[in-house]
Amino acid sequence: MAETRSTCPYCGVGCGVVIAHEAGAITGVRGDPDHPANFGRLCTKGSTLHLTATPVLLQTARLHRPMARTQRGAPLAPIGWDTALDRVADRLAATITDHGPDAVGFYLSGQLLTEDYHVFNKLAKGLIGSNNVDTNSRLCMSSAVSGYKSSLGADAPPACYDDLALARTVFITGSNMAWAHPVLFRRLEDARAARPDMKLVVVDPRRTETAAVADLHLAIQPGTDVMLHHAMLHIMLAEGLHDAAWIAAHTNGFEALRERVRDLTPARAARICGVPETDIVQAARWFAGQSTDGGRFPTLSLYCQGLNQSSSGTDKNTTLINLHLTTGQIGQPGAGPLSLTGQPNAMGGREVGGLATLLSGHRDLGNPEHRAEVARLWGVTDVPARPGKAAVQMFEAAADGEIRALWIACTNPAQSLPDQAMVRRALERCEFVVLQEAYRHTATTPYADLVLPASSWGEKDGSVTNSERRISRVRPAIDAPGLARHDWLIARDVAQRLEARLPSRRTPESAGRSMFDFRTPESVWLEHREMTRGRDLDITGLDWAALDRAPAQWPCPQGQTTGTARLYTDGRFVTGDGRARFSAPAPRGPAESCDDDFPLALTSGRLRDQWHGMSRTGTLGRLLAHTPEPALQMHRRDLERRGLTGGDLVRVRTRRGELVLPVQASDELAEAQVHLAMHWGSEVLGGAGSAGVNTLTQPICCPSSGQPELKHSAAQVEAV
Ligand code: SF4
Repeated sequence: MAETRSTCPYCGVGCGVVIAHEAGAITGVRGDPDHPANFGRLCTKGSTLHLTATPVLLQTARLHRPMARTQRGAPLAPIGWDTALDRVADRLAATITDHGPDAVGFYLSGQLLTEDYHVFNKLAKGLIGSNNVDTNSRLCMSSAVSGYKSSLGADAPPACYDDLALARTVFITGSNMAWAHPVLFRRLEDARAARPDMKLVVVDPRRTETAAVADLHLAIQPGTDVMLHHAMLHIMLAEGLHDAAWIAAHTNGFEALRERVRDLTPARAARICGVPETDIVQAARWFAGQSTDGGRFPTLSLYCQGLNQSSSGTDKNTTLINLHLTTGQIGQPGAGPLSLTGQPNAMGGREVGGLATLLSGHRDLGNPEHRAEVARLWGVTDVPARPGKAAVQMFEAAADGEIRALWIACTNPAQSLPDQAMVRRALERCEFVVLQEAYRHTATTPYADLVLPASSWGEKDGSVTNSERRISRVRPAIDAPGLARHDWLIARDVAQRLEARLPSRRTPESAGRSMFDFRTPESVWLEHREMTRGRDLDITGLDWAALDRAPAQWPCPQGQTTGTARLYTDGRFVTGDGRARFSAPAPRGPAESCDDDFPLALTSGRLRDQWHGMSRTGTLGRLLAHTPEPALQMHRRDLERRGLTGGDLVRVRTRRGELVLPVQASDELAEAQVHLAMHWGSEVLGGAGSAGVNTLTQPICCPSSGQPELKHSAAQVEAV
């Protein structure tokens, strides 16, 4: 038996795993005791990874060969790799020639490796000349990105996991961390056990497993986070808990914020947020952390989709960061705003510019100097200034006929995007849909003209970055099944074909050489590394061998031999003048108000033992046993009002669509709220035409981040 160290492919905690394998088959998995994210621990999902990669499942659940159909609705039939790659290149080239580069869209995934992402981005933005590259990270982290950039100047979480053990107050908001980031939550439990004076504040409309163990749970009304943050700041100012000297030395914009919160008293916030005024005051005092001797205990905030998946997601992020800036709770051990990355490599994707609004090395598409830098590094004449389309926009553009060819890799938009009626119209109207996918059956597969089989966990080779900016190696233990290939290799091979089919965008100095002369993941990573030189995430001090020895946190510029645990320790930020920026947005409610027709607030979220659309975790009875079937959670009094009891079949409706499923009485929710897990799709819920909870959700997005409001829809529930 041999062992190979790699990384868990599920969440952004980024746990290290040791894969046991023998004779080309994975036989076991254990936590890597030397990995600084988890020190040997794994959660239920990570510890069962090997069972999702058995020879039987590799044979039955995975795609083995390229497949194509002669026309929509016809069955997929096997084709050879060369034919498949030529066909993708031919169709993309024809679309670009006839309709321009922006008639093509790439929809990627936070589960791709950094090397996959880099090649796809260079292919779209450098070779084709279109910024229509977006990913399912748009559904996950884009409000955290815009929040960090707006407040601190760069998309860089300032704190690290070790801060869990150093914080006096941990403020968790919009995250059921006990289920969604379980190994990190275990570290928090350890820290609380070691330091009983630690205070845990949880803000969540639901009494989740995380909220249930909090010292203080603020069960706010969905979408009222900005009001809560402003009211906490009001208290900090009223009680002199702010750090006036630090604010004066390191920030801009405080007076506008002071004016904004002047009338936002805890009493007013209590009415709007639906929580006791005294709890808001208590949360503000604990957050400020002022000690009797005038010192300050550190506060760490942890947050996720409850803040991000909102039509005011950026405001929710920046107003939380305001609280850190007001109290100087940043850049210190145990203090800072630390967003929890949903997907395993949403962070790595952002590093290479894997969103329609970003460029490689944390550069901005809207900045002409940044575009020129990227063009020079890639040896192309320019990177176009035209904004690319974010995820929801991309599918709306396809539904409108503006985007005519879509290349989808490692994600399942026919389940995971909001407003599935629109998404399915888009996939149907699109003239050419390529799906690059590891699994045989997904909700998107029926819409694909061409399916390309991709490698997956246990087979892939490259790197990922977790929530604390730590880059880890992903290593192969076995070969991919059948003819499946690595994602970066597929993108490279199509790119090389397109170079021969499209007019060259190369500069005279770089003409004559392929832009995609990559032979190994390391060769891709080295180009990515060069793109970071001089940037906030500079990793030019790292090499592949160093990453092989141990994971490292960026930045790690040349001359530095280890990574960087915390950012902004000197109080200087990545803004033009080095000062952080307060923002002072007016509180806004959710985009869709509840009314007499749709009186219930529908929220969605994760289950403990499932991941995304269940392609991998849904193959294991052991994981399904935790929650064997979908059910709509509802408060008992709302059930009684409708003459329902738990287990009854109900119809849940929003303005977009409806689902029929069992209802379940829940003590976790307040009245007038309902909750549905996000994992189940058309195979379980509602049959053809349904896509689970996203049949119901809306495509309204945060105007700054483009992240859709998956956490709130106005709904009605009735007996079937
Ligand atoms: Fe994998 Fe996340 Fe569980 Fe760690 S906490 S084992 S990364 S799913």
